Amino acid sequence: MKYHSASNVYFNIANINRCTGSEGPFKRMAIWFQGCNIYCKSCCNPELQPFRLAHLVSLEELIEIAFRAKEEFSIEGVTLTGGEPTMQIIGLIKLCAEFKKLDLGIILYSGNKIFDIPQELLKLIDLLVDGMYIEEFKEPGAAMKGSKNQDIHHLTKRYLNIKQNKEDRIHGSININDGAIINGDVLLF
Ligand code: SF4
Repeated sequence: MKYHSASNVYFNIANINRCTGSEGPFKRMAIWFQGCNIYCKSCCNPELQPFRLAHLVSLEELIEIAFRAKEEFSIEGVTLTGGEPTMQIIGLIKLCAEFKKLDLGIILYSGNKIFDIPQELLKLIDLLVDGMYIEEFKEPGAAMKGSKNQDIHHLTKRYLNIKQNKEDRIHGSININDGAIINGDVLLF
């Protein structure tokens, strides 16, 4: 690791895209968490289900990556997906609190329903898409959800009037995958 983690909080991260137009409105950073215990049939990311160690990334590193992405790409927010982000709940609450300090909007995808997600986390989230993915209820035209049983919860007003614009796509990205670093501006592993 490049940095010592003063907080001693680490995440098991499968992938990061520092700037994408595909994971919600505006330009945003997307983080895919490794590990999921929901096991939806026809999961769109089955490789993210196993609780294997992917990339161990500290709280401080994730904050710095987001800070730099905001400076470099003017990202509006962050999308947390997976895998199941809430399986790393203690660190996730700390991480979201730091993202709020950077004035980043936060979208959370969870296979759990809203009533199973701690309030301490929900109060930091702007938009939540909750529920399992059920292929029988697949909804290909929907902007942000995969199946009709899932719900979109606007927990703040931040994205209330937003429709995802699919024309506003990738503006540049850095992916952390298998330890590979693209762009060379963040040295993590
Ligand atoms: S919650 Fe998401 S990652 Fe987990 S099994 Fe369902 S679709 Fe896959």
